[in-house]
Amino acid sequence: MYDRPLKILLVSAEVVPFAKTGGLADVAGSLPKALATVNEPDVENDVRVAMPRYKQIEGAEFVTDFPISFNNRLRTVVMRRKFIEAQYRNEHRRIPVYMLDNYHYYYRDGIYMFHDEAERFAFFCFAVLEMLKHIGWQPEIIHCNDWQTGPIPLLLKTRYAKDPFYQKMATVFTIHNLQYQGNFPRETLGLLGLGPEYYHPERLEFYGNISFMKAGLLYADIVNTVSKTYAREIQTPELGERMDGVLRKRGADLFGIINGINYHEFDPRTDPRIHRNYDIHTIHNKRENKAPLQRELDLPVRDVPVLGIVSRLVDQKGLDLVAEIIDELMYLDIQLVILGTGDRYYHQLFKTMRERYPQKVGLFLGFNPVLAQRIYAGADMFLMPSRFEPCGLGQLISLRYGTVPIVRATGGLADTIQEFDPVTGMGNGFVFKEYSGRALYGCIARALKLYREQPEKWLTLMKNGMEMDYSWARSAVEYLQLYREALARRLGVTRIA
Ligand code: ADP
Repeated sequence: MYDRPLKILLVSAEVVPFAKTGGLADVAGSLPKALATVNEPDVENDVRVAMPRYKQIEGAEFVTDFPISFNNRLRTVVMRRKFIEAQYRNEHRRIPVYMLDNYHYYYRDGIYMFHDEAERFAFFCFAVLEMLKHIGWQPEIIHCNDWQTGPIPLLLKTRYAKDPFYQKMATVFTIHNLQYQGNFPRETLGLLGLGPEYYHPERLEFYGNISFMKAGLLYADIVNTVSKTYAREIQTPELGERMDGVLRKRGADLFGIINGINYHEFDPRTDPRIHRNYDIHTIHNKRENKAPLQRELDLPVRDVPVLGIVSRLVDQKGLDLVAEIIDELMYLDIQLVILGTGDRYYHQLFKTMRERYPQKVGLFLGFNPVLAQRIYAGADMFLMPSRFEPCGLGQLISLRYGTVPIVRATGGLADTIQEFDPVTGMGNGFVFKEYSGRALYGCIARALKLYREQPEKWLTLMKNGMEMDYSWARSAVEYLQLYREALARRLGVTRIA
């Protein structure tokens, strides 16, 4: 017996392919597709998405407009629509993406970083809830993502608490990055239609401000983040970003579901960006991607182990550990290729490395999705020594391309990568725990030893990675369970049939 389909609204400030600054957009674009095409016969979930309509998004069709009273003024919401296209077996399915538009708030260059962020996203949250009445659609689940949508669960339990239209809507709030919290001055409460009693540590007060993220964390029926380990880690002061107390309080309602990657886009068998396609049966062809990568990055074309890094260049990613051991690493017969962009400090650091070791370090400072794929295909190993990592996509893409991840055991990296054991042939990468250059060096040394001394074991290791399933289909099933759990809690029943 299968569970009945659900009506789900996913709300996000960014959604691929319409607007993206980070991993949130990938999730918001991919998860709805997977939910709409989940592999259960007779289950066709009604999935829709809501986001702001930014200036850069063209060609969204007009649906309707309506006034809302916001911040003591009447403002107009223009509701537009586009679709995400999904394929289910031989059927074509279209997922509506409602784009909420207001000239004053969103007709600007860029997505974030304006002086009135609180107002822009408080407006968005009201607009989402009001929109539902105008289209006469009652989702059972509103899936909110990151601080921009934090007020929605709160509004359902305050302003809209007595309105029968909203009574049966449950909320799930997903943390993609706890570092960005949407903290604003206390006067912001007025924007949410709340009185000063909400400026309280048990409510929205947060270190002298009020926090949109905290609103989501406290008022959603269920909270989750993008891996089980990160869900535990953020309840500790070390990785809790000062929200650990709130998260411990919600501990019984806090879950972790790992992100997937798009298995069609990231497929070495068909990827048009790489030099030579391959799959698990033609894995020997992978090596033909190495020389073109070396040429592209102006490195000597040689048969040496190539270690890749594709990353935002920020403290989170543990790159100071690479810097710490670079001289020792350069004694070894290896090449290191780095693609990234971010803090100026790291740009300078890697430039200096490239200048000192032009035969061994290949570097591209910038955002380059084509080169990224060529690194995933052409490298032998992929480095992610992150200080913390909510989920991490780089290691999942590496597995898919038969490139062996070398990771620090934190967050999603700990959940997806297991140390290879040459005796049992189990495991898909190399893992270290202590945040130190020495531990990273030891881990790389173990990988290199296996690569050189036991090539047949190395092949097993590559295949183990390629056989894993980190597609969205798997995670979508877990999200459906979570949605049912949220709905059961909202309705006060034990189970949703
Ligand atoms: P985060 O979301 O913290 O940046 P993830 O590992 O979750 O880290 O996702 C990073 C994604 O962005 C990966 O798909 C990676 O390949 C891609 N990426 C990161 N930096 C670059 C870059 N400079 N050029 C192209 N792709 C990049």
